[in-house]
Amino acid sequence: MTDSFLNYVGGQWLPAQSGEWFEDRNPADERDLIGQFPDSGPADIAAAVAAVRGAWPAWAAASPEERADVLFRAAELMAKRADDIAAELTREEGKTLTEARTEARRIAANFRLYASEALHLKGETYPSDAKQLILSVRQPVGVVAVITPWNVPLSMATRKIAPALAAGNGVIFKPSEVAPLMGQRLVEVLLEAGLPAKLIALVQGRGANVGRAITANGGIDALTFTGSYAVGRQIADALSTDTRAQLEMGGKNATIVLGDADVEKAAAIIERGAFGLSGQACTGTSRVLVARPLYDRLVERLAGVAKAIRVGPGTADGIRMGPLATRAQLDKVLAYVEIARGEGGRIVTGGTALRDSDAALANGYFVSPAVIADLPAASRLLREEVFGPVVAVRAIDGLDEAIAVADETEYGMAVSLVTNDLAAVLRFTRETQHGIVKVNSPTTGVALNAPFGGFKHSSNQAAKEQGGATVMDFYTRIKSIYLGA
Ligand code: NAD
Repeated sequence: MTDSFLNYVGGQWLPAQSGEWFEDRNPADERDLIGQFPDSGPADIAAAVAAVRGAWPAWAAASPEERADVLFRAAELMAKRADDIAAELTREEGKTLTEARTEARRIAANFRLYASEALHLKGETYPSDAKQLILSVRQPVGVVAVITPWNVPLSMATRKIAPALAAGNGVIFKPSEVAPLMGQRLVEVLLEAGLPAKLIALVQGRGANVGRAITANGGIDALTFTGSYAVGRQIADALSTDTRAQLEMGGKNATIVLGDADVEKAAAIIERGAFGLSGQACTGTSRVLVARPLYDRLVERLAGVAKAIRVGPGTADGIRMGPLATRAQLDKVLAYVEIARGEGGRIVTGGTALRDSDAALANGYFVSPAVIADLPAASRLLREEVFGPVVAVRAIDGLDEAIAVADETEYGMAVSLVTNDLAAVLRFTRETQHGIVKVNSPTTGVALNAPFGGFKHSSNQAAKEQGGATVMDFYTRIKSIYLGA
């Protein structure tokens, strides 16, 4: 019998008002049906907005300690359940168990960080004459819609929901339709931690249905979105000017290897950045720009690294790369490999679906990690986001060219530089048009307490995600008050 999961609206678990459902399947074996979830629409969103609108003022009026306590309790529950939830994350999204545990274990820290922010929100006072006191206070925005992608579904959602709640808002949460179970688990944890029942609504569904219903509903005060640029653009166009929007989007991230770098060390940095999470990270390395004298050696080394990665179900021992999350992801990666071939690129290794070569992988979305070299400068592979384990290598001549070529894309998410040349580092960090700049470490992997977000098409820069104080700017409004006697 199929497990049926429900929306949570107005303190009740409910199916979609349309009675429609969508299926959630295991990407390592699409015969494995995880369950069906409500495919919600405008009526469900209208009910969610009404419930959350009614509930948030009482939450905002509660003491900051009360809000912090709920988030601290959520952290404890999450820490206890992390390994169980990680196993479900692997089944639902495909990443390896090691990767899933890393994500799930971090969620407690996210909750703690924002619990503490509930206690730290501050206003200011301003110099004035003696007849009045002028001050600014921070207040919640109200109803916050949270729309998340599937690739790090726990991490992304808590980085939005926890600060929104800490500031005193109510939340309408629409997880990705590719990872709806992770949305369910997060809401269960928050409710068990004592969150007021009507303060959060979980509304499952496909982007084209419920996502559009969210942007069309005039009752949303703020919308925080992480996902692709194409969808971020649609959201920006659809929202009313009264709704503030935080849009965190795609990337085309480069690792630059200068001539003084150690090839082994560079290859290890690129391996983590390019092939971790099966290449499905917004900060994932998808371009390598390497000093020409090192080009051949690095291409060869990266090919060796990629060939050594064992691909298979994330639950199996020794597996270093799980499947892609969806059939569409697999098709997209294979299509980009063909584009590269058509452009004259050399597929040094990988880029093939493994369903035909290995019977154990026949029902999953497995692909071998790819290294592609000798692409022309105008190649689409060097500009467009692939979001899979595909790395394109290009030779560069010097720092000027490296900086220019790294910025030759519409995105500006993460970039990294491998060198010991301090002068190059200083210039590079100042000039590059990327929001996250790493030196001698992979483009992936970010601290939970540092601002996170890109430039250009990677983010609308409404307020950086993560990082305590900066993100709280998005979830609060400032009111200036003049007190006279
Ligand atoms: P996506 O844009 O397809 O979907 C993201 C979310 O938006 C999903 O919940 C989806 O249902 C919803 N959605 C779809 N259409 C909508 C619409 N018209 N209105 C409102 N909501 C809609 O992205 P995805 O495939 O889930 O995730 C991969 C993308 O996310 C990649 O581009 C990746 O770079 C990006 N990403 C960015 C970051 C970051 O921090 N910048 C982090 C992770 C992933």
